[in-house]
Amino acid sequence: MKFFTLLLLFPIFLSAQSGLFEHKEKFTRQDSLRGSITPEREWWDLKHYKLAVEVFPKTKTIKGSNTINFEVIKPAKKMQIDLQEPLQITKITHQNKELNYSREGNVYWINFSKNLPINSKEKITIYYEGKPTESRNPPWSGGITWRKDEKGNDFIASSNQGIGASIWWPNKDHTYDEPENGIDMHITVPEHLTDVSNGRLINIIHDKEAKIKTFHWQVKNPINNYGVNINIGNYIHFSEIFQGEKGNLDCNYWVLKHNLAKAKKQFKQAKMTLAAFEHWFGPYPFYEDSYKLVEAPYLGMEHQSSVTYGNQYQNGYLGRDLSGTGVGLKFDYIIIHESGHEWFANNITNKDVADMWIHESFTTYSESLFIDYHFSTEEANKYVIGMRRAIRNDKPIIGQYNVNNEGSSDMYYKGANILHTLRQIINNDILWKEILRGLNKDFYHQQVTTKQIEDYIIKKGNLKINRFFYQYLRTVKIPILEYQIKRNQISYSFTNTVDNFSMPVKVWVNGKIIWLDVTNKTKNYKTSNGNINNFSIDNNFYINHKKL
Ligand SMILES: [Zn+2]
Repeated sequence: MKFFTLLLLFPIFLSAQSGLFEHKEKFTRQDSLRGSITPEREWWDLKHYKLAVEVFPKTKTIKGSNTINFEVIKPAKKMQIDLQEPLQITKITHQNKELNYSREGNVYWINFSKNLPINSKEKITIYYEGKPTESRNPPWSGGITWRKDEKGNDFIASSNQGIGASIWWPNKDHTYDEPENGIDMHITVPEHLTDVSNGRLINIIHDKEAKIKTFHWQVKNPINNYGVNINIGNYIHFSEIFQGEKGNLDCNYWVLKHNLAKAKKQFKQAKMTLAAFEHWFGPYPFYEDSYKLVEAPYLGMEHQSSVTYGNQYQNGYLGRDLSGTGVGLKFDYIIIHESGHEWFANNITNKDVADMWIHESFTTYSESLFIDYHFSTEEANKYVIGMRRAIRNDKPIIGQYNVNNEGSSDMYYKGANILHTLRQIINNDILWKEILRGLNKDFYHQQVTTKQIEDYIIKKGNLKINRFFYQYLRTVKIPILEYQIKRNQISYSFTNTVDNFSMPVKVWVNGKIIWLDVTNKTKNYKTSNGNINNFSIDNNFYINHKKL
């Protein structure tokens, strides 16, 4: 996730609006506070969160605390913590003393009485409560969803990608810093309900007098805070073991009781997904925390070690094929896509959300790699090429930095086609797989920038491309391969590119594969044996072409 489903229904209509990309979005001080590494964030390094929250379905309110462990990396005394209105912090403690704080919109400024010493390990506890924003259109609008299932039971969930985890709990709401030692969640709910959160279930404490249960979930690995989630409902659990590259991985499935039979059938795709992605990307990145699929009252989200599922136990994207080729009906979009994010989003996380293509382009491409692994390369190609119909080229894929701004939704389908094009240029699937696995190994549990990913792919792939990433990620122009054929000669060049753009392109000349090293300058290719009667360009390259 995430993108607007409506786009998919009207791709052609929307592509007509492509003149809009020049408009400048306006950003506020709140956007900068949310989206940048402020001095009040920079001086402390997150180690661990302990989030204890009670959820009250009747009043749609929550109340709890977050204990934040951190290390001081620069002496300072003013700290930024994010918690969105209308929730309120009621008290903050440090070393058994209450701290002073003030509020500026969705930001709390916490004042320690003096500079905290460098390298010291500190702990604060933040108490908060209120009626969190209700999500009207989860997961696209963030907040808490308060629904009832078909049997009338409460069915409650959090979702907050984009808007931020601070919509329901106080934290450092920026992706650059993850708690290295994970999170412990203690979620208290009415006794007839079950909470499912990230990682492993450690214990359930039943307070019979208060008629409540507290579920303790533990994540040992670093976790991006938008992945932290609660799911509360009338759940039933089943599990199986996936024998993977790092040994036995327990797969846990939590579904509404009345959906058990359907889930047992549909979730067979979970192990298939893990097999395909371990093949292409390397070991599942969170063995210590298990793998989970959790039914949610919305379509789905890549919550780390707690992938949420609401695709109605059918293949495709709510039964539809995004590619229009039929291939998209061979798998359950939400199982495959959201699980793919365990590698690209949860393992390798964007440092700034402007670089969210690192999550969505690779994960959208993972759908094609799933097809490749279980079906055929031919169908995988067909699928990714088919998705081009949803590309808008409305604005660049990379958003604006430091203001919590995502780029174009083209990070999905165009992004997948960019990666598919790189795979063609590399022209060696063993090397391509090594690069994908290498990314997951060398950037294991890290927050990265576009430049790191670009440099890595170019170096490991030994790629002869120039300004390729700039062209595709930072402009909306699609290179046009212009060519002219005269007797035994083809003249060719790229237009509609940035200066000095170049990339090799695979073509067929009289049935023979030829690689053209195409630049902005016209070059010629001559056959040695007569006129060119047959010329075609490999459609796996995401470029346009024009015969002169
Ligand atoms: Zn996604």
